[in-house]
Amino acid sequence: MTAATHDAPAVAARAGLKLPYTHVEDIFVHGAWTPARGTGRNPVTDPATGEVWGSVPDGTPEDVDAAVGSARRAFDDGKWPRLTPSERAAYLLRIAEEVEKRAEELSLTNTRENGSPVSESAGAAANAAGIFRYFATLAGYLEREDVRAFPNGGGESVVRREPIGVCALIAPWNFPINLVVIKLAPALLAGCTVVIKPASPTPLSLRVIIDAVAAAGVPAGVVNLVTGSGRLGDVLVKHPGVDKVAFTGSTPVGRKIAAACGELLRPVTLELGGKSSAVVLPDADLDAMSKVLIRSSMRNTGQTCYISTRILAPASRYDEVVDMVTATIAAGKQGDPLDPDTVFGPCATESQYRTVLEYVDSGLAEGARATTGGRAASLGGGLEGGYFVEPTVFADVTPEMRISREEIFGPVLCILKYDDVDEAVALANNTEFGLGGLVFGQDADAALKVADRMDTGSVGINFFASNHAAPFGGRHDSGLGTEYGIEGLNAYLSYKSIHRRA
Ligand code: NAP
Ligand code: MG
Repeated sequence: MTAATHDAPAVAARAGLKLPYTHVEDIFVHGAWTPARGTGRNPVTDPATGEVWGSVPDGTPEDVDAAVGSARRAFDDGKWPRLTPSERAAYLLRIAEEVEKRAEELSLTNTRENGSPVSESAGAAANAAGIFRYFATLAGYLEREDVRAFPNGGGESVVRREPIGVCALIAPWNFPINLVVIKLAPALLAGCTVVIKPASPTPLSLRVIIDAVAAAGVPAGVVNLVTGSGRLGDVLVKHPGVDKVAFTGSTPVGRKIAAACGELLRPVTLELGGKSSAVVLPDADLDAMSKVLIRSSMRNTGQTCYISTRILAPASRYDEVVDMVTATIAAGKQGDPLDPDTVFGPCATESQYRTVLEYVDSGLAEGARATTGGRAASLGGGLEGGYFVEPTVFADVTPEMRISREEIFGPVLCILKYDDVDEAVALANNTEFGLGGLVFGQDADAALKVADRMDTGSVGINFFASNHAAPFGGRHDSGLGTEYGIEGLNAYLSYKSIHRRA
């Protein structure tokens, strides 16, 4: 990699960006940006160029104390948990408007932090606003009187759905805005207060969400933000002032958090990794599949938890599937994530880049055949220092290869062969994970039957998208609990039954 020249287009484009936050010294506590206690700093790097363009405080336990203390006071003594759900829903609607006003700041900051192509990040604000608006519609569910008779006729019980308390929200770097909002919106509607810790590579886009929350008039202390390393996340998870933890990230870190919460008997929601499969049935329409392939199997340069990166093709059509997948992936433009035509950007971090290249090498060493890609991409125009890996398709993949079993989290697809549908289902289910999945086929009943047999939290038929109103969660090593839907709201509630004589 050589240093970028100053007149390179990618460098010039970045020099012209007006981003609301670059180098910051503060965290958000008790309704205000407040200087962090320690002196440590964490850099923010543009993965398309390798340039450090921002920095944030590397928080200390004192910062966590301040943020949790603020959330604790807002919960124990403040008005937020005592508002009616409809009153809180009105705030959520205002937050949605404020988020939409900041769509461009959100998109560009997100793209500069993690290299998500702007074609992806441009939708972040609308998606976040949609999540706030969806949860606002659930105020009526919280307000509905719930009185249940004793089965023996001896009285009745009033069932209360109370906010669970102070919630720690910990997020990964791949979708730094929406993986927080999907926790924040139901927590706020429920009446909880929160402390957010974003991932180290992506601490700045979330500040724009905090600005939207503040502009919507959410009371001081309800939403707090700290920045710092995984060590700080550990301090937050174990803090005595926290009542619930909601985490999205890797399975190894999820296990540590689960262990800590187990010891503390602290409720926890874990959305973890995945290794999902797309079952291509013999009657699949491959042209139609080609149109949704990148979104469902390579979204965000392969850095999406639920995408189906293992494609299971019937032996009778194996070569046809390999040709279609190869042509589709090869046609997606890789380049500057700020370019609206870019489909594939860089890996989000240097360490992820190295990990993905190791997986590519292991695939080649184990005998898989790269039909496109298969190495680091060398791009010009100022992107020489970026973390680009060529979008890669591996054919002749067998189930025991590492690339077939482990989550790669980069632009790499594997195509496996099956003989009959039972074998396809067995291959799809032969994984430690259980997050997403897809079935491609024209016979709707047959496709639904296969979807029903997949041991996973979500399955798409001929397309994949998450629905704000339907539960999303992982089985096995993909996590505990669910987000989205009423089920996602329930994770922020604590029930109380008040028994009385009727
Ligand atoms: P990660 O390394 O597990 O980190 C996630 C978050 O946890 C970061 O904020 C991280 O801080 C923090 N953290 C690290 N160690 C911690 C500890 N001991 N206690 C508390 N917090 C700790 O995951 P990532 O590399 O950012 O993200 C990629 C992973 O997320 C992939 O495995 C992907 O599948 C998964 N993911 C899952 C979903 C889903 O919904 N199921 C969605 C998206 C991504 P630092 O950044 O400072 O280390
Ligand atoms: Mg990590």
